Amino acid sequence: VAATGLDRVTSPLASAEIIAVGSELLGTVRIDTNSLFITGRLAALGIQVKGKAVVGDDRTRLRAFFIAALERSDLVVLTGGLGPTADDVTREVVADALDLALVEDAAITARIEDRFARRGLRMPDVNRRQAMVPAGAVALPNPNGTAPGLLITDEGRGKVVVLLPGPPRELQPMFGLLCDHGVIAQRAGAERLHTVSLFTTQRSESHVEEIAQPLYGPWAEEDPPIETTILASPGQIELHLTLRSRDSAAAQRRLESARTVLANALGDAVFSTDGRPLHRVVADMLRERAMTIAAAESCTGGLLMTRLTDLPGSSAYVAGGVVAYSNVLKTALLGVDARLIDAHGAVSEPVAAAMVDGLRARTSADVNVSITGIAGPAGGTPGKPVGTVVIGALVQGKPLSLRTHLFPGDREMVRFQATQTALDVVRRLLF
Ligand code: ATP
Repeated sequence: VAATGLDRVTSPLASAEIIAVGSELLGTVRIDTNSLFITGRLAALGIQVKGKAVVGDDRTRLRAFFIAALERSDLVVLTGGLGPTADDVTREVVADALDLALVEDAAITARIEDRFARRGLRMPDVNRRQAMVPAGAVALPNPNGTAPGLLITDEGRGKVVVLLPGPPRELQPMFGLLCDHGVIAQRAGAERLHTVSLFTTQRSESHVEEIAQPLYGPWAEEDPPIETTILASPGQIELHLTLRSRDSAAAQRRLESARTVLANALGDAVFSTDGRPLHRVVADMLRERAMTIAAAESCTGGLLMTRLTDLPGSSAYVAGGVVAYSNVLKTALLGVDARLIDAHGAVSEPVAAAMVDGLRARTSADVNVSITGIAGPAGGTPGKPVGTVVIGALVQGKPLSLRTHLFPGDREMVRFQATQTALDVVRRLLF
């Protein structure tokens, strides 16, 4: 095996494997997310990830995983274990498995020394390990950390091995460069994976499937086929259409017309055809209309406001919110008549309406929303079981929208669906 320049290797990379290295990833606290990012970037280039593994800082096991992956796949990406300490074994294991000597790269040593010097520090000797590279490997600069990545090409077998540091903020820009302009971009085949998506809400997965399947079913038989995936999560059903093609413009046109067919069939349940989540869609509508929103939240404890204010620039359309969890505060902060709560219960349409009224009187927002419900697990009654949520919404110039919903699932699911439904009510009222 010889690691040499990249110019002589020309066969396209068809298959890839990812090995996430780090004993911490085998525990219960840290999870391997790097492989998801890497998979996404490779898929866009038409390179299929055929397998992935998580391996601890154990030379023998890592060696076995690496050799097997390299046997099967054109590209092997390893992440983590490039640090300066003795348990960072990736560089050594890969060099050993490929029978390459480790040699110090003086330019890397100088860069690491410089990073320390800029903070007025001397480079500890252990960091010299990070400058030890398999002979012939190309160093990939790491603007956000000390460990450079490494690129090794096995010319004889047309294989590529990439070693990247573990921290996502270091790995992502480095791998991005390889996929944008670097060796992975150059060695990818002409075929690319194209995708479009369509998000719906307020319909069950089976309902969406019933409408969509007869339409997308035949597309899977065409050449090249459009593959359709339905992803269900509480309060949202996503349809993803993918197509492998060498002709980007044609693929994009075909996917967009397929998406239009589905969007027309699913009607106003569709809230996004460009990947934007529902809170972004509503935020953008409010911004376009120069309107503001306020919310009085009980069982969601501010989750609706959190979702809306998670977005940068939200001060343009968020007036604010009131978390009125107890009955006392529903009265004190929103002016809800205590007798109304006594008569109907806090989770009731009259109280949700009074919350909206009280909120509107206290804010000058154009859109006022109230949410009151039973998130569980305790607190349900036969008449008002866990998952009962009343949502009120008043958009300037429109009649009050007031409805009682029954959401399935646990506390987290109920709370999320309550905010999702409230956002969807506002979306429909603004439409
Ligand atoms: P460093 O020089 O920072 O030590 P490294 O290449 O040695 O880089 P690791 O020590 O293996 O990286 O991991 C550093 C941190 O990066 C981990 O604590 C973890 O937070 C994160 N990390 C490592 N691998 C992954 C992964 N596969 N997915 C997500 N995060 C990861």
